[in-house]
Amino acid sequence: MLDSASKALFHLVAQSGTLKKLASRYGMRRTASFARRFIAGENVAEAIEAARAVQARGMLISLDLLGESVTTLAAADAATRQYLDVIEAIIASGIERNLSLKLTQLGLDVDKASAVDNLRKILERAGPAGFFVRIDMEQSAYTEVTLEIFETLWGHGYRQMGVVLQSSLYRSEQDLARVNALGARVRLVKGAYKEPKSVAYPKKEDVDAAYARMLKVLITDGHYGAIGTHDPAMIELARDWARAHAITPDRFEFQMLYGVRRDLQTMLVNAGYRVRVYIPFGREWFPYFMRRLGERPANIMFVIRGVLRERR
Ligand SMILES: Cc1cc2nc3c(=O)[nH]c(=O)nc-3n(C[C@H](O)[C@H](O)[C@H](O)COP(=O)(O)OP(=O)(O)OC[C@H]3O[C@@H](n4cnc5c(N)ncnc54)[C@H](O)[C@@H]3O)c2cc1C
Repeated sequence: MLDSASKALFHLVAQSGTLKKLASRYGMRRTASFARRFIAGENVAEAIEAARAVQARGMLISLDLLGESVTTLAAADAATRQYLDVIEAIIASGIERNLSLKLTQLGLDVDKASAVDNLRKILERAGPAGFFVRIDMEQSAYTEVTLEIFETLWGHGYRQMGVVLQSSLYRSEQDLARVNALGARVRLVKGAYKEPKSVAYPKKEDVDAAYARMLKVLITDGHYGAIGTHDPAMIELARDWARAHAITPDRFEFQMLYGVRRDLQTMLVNAGYRVRVYIPFGREWFPYFMRRLGERPANIMFVIRGVLRERR
């Protein structure tokens, strides 16, 4: 993870129209195009194919139809219908039934009640079909409302869903206690967004220290916690902590992003741990892609090489 200055730079670059045009033109058009390293494809058939390949490596999956920050109710409805179609496609394919989604994709910025209704429609179809639905966590402006919506629906009996907490935020340790008390599942991550220092640790070492504290609580007091990281130190700590507290590997899982640290993913599966790969797909891949570049400057070189190759 980068420090906040670098994150800010990538945030700016992400707004660049030229870069977006270039990326859209070259990023996904062939199976070897550079954005495909992180994004499984633009349609659900490609995502299912990628999921099958991940499952064949002994791993679990979660499919994420990319999209966020929609600005009209029509777009939120369309995203909801697309998610319902994805559910049908997953059922027909026979792959594992697990989804990740974002509330701003379902209209949270436009109208909270509509976003809740849209989420409910998805859960109504997904729950009885045996899906688990993870609500991703977005910028800190959405943390409280995301948790409130989650708690409300949980209270209404929707139990096949979980939430995400970011160790970068000062509030998250308290939020972890709050979600653990509900009995719900948490995916613990460091946090992918640029945040002000009024709400988030500006230094990476503090984000890491908070992650370390939180992962111990999650493993000991959580409910099938998900350790979402590619950081070998955190993974080692999780393994040591679980071993020391006689918590067997079937009581938590590691989660990693599609295309990131495949070596670590394989190492963990070979060591007997559960690894879930988060598989994003869809036409709205640019913001997700930029966050992945922002996490690791070396990825930029990978993209530049890809663009040059495609233009030849
Ligand atoms: C399954 C999953 C779901 C997530 N969901 C959310 C969410 O809902 N909300 C949210 O804010 N964030 C989410 N994230 C992103 C997360 O917050 C971090 O931004 C991201 O995981 C990078 O942090 P890290 O823990 O891997 O550790 P870091 O300390 O950033 O990285 C550790 C090592 O991992 C490798 N690495 C990390 N990122 C990359 C990359 N992009 N490309 C190549 N190598 C890399 C590098 O080797 C690096 O040295 C999710 C992450 C995962 C794994």
